[in-house]
Amino acid sequence: MNWRQPRTDRDSAEWWAAVARHELVLQCCDGCGELRWPPRAMCAGCGGFGWTWRPSAGDGTVASWIRSHRPFAPGLPLPHVTVLVRLADQPDLLLPGGWTGTGEPRTGDPVRLRFADIEPGLSLLSWEAAP
Ligand SMILES: [Zn+2]
Repeated sequence: MNWRQPRTDRDSAEWWAAVARHELVLQCCDGCGELRWPPRAMCAGCGGFGWTWRPSAGDGTVASWIRSHRPFAPGLPLPHVTVLVRLADQPDLLLPGGWTGTGEPRTGDPVRLRFADIEPGLSLLSWEAAP
């Protein structure tokens, strides 16, 4: 399958490495303490350039979701459901990922983080309904 593998850059390399280890980390601004995603050099809150990686459990709620009938990565079943999760760590943090839960996700339902191994060394975020 011809697909566009995620690219890492200076700011996101550690994030991708953590996801490959099945860990979720978020940038925490050293200046104001705001969490941010996707990884980037500067804080949108205070303009600071310093940050520290902070672990996250990935708990949250479904903010939105969509069903795709076109493959975008090898190994994903079709149709594939992508969810947008509002993290409990900070309500304005929205992260996309796959859905491994049974049935359709429902907006507002609590979820817990899982990981989908796509290729050796490449994993993606995935969520399922929290018990
Ligand atoms: Zn800041």
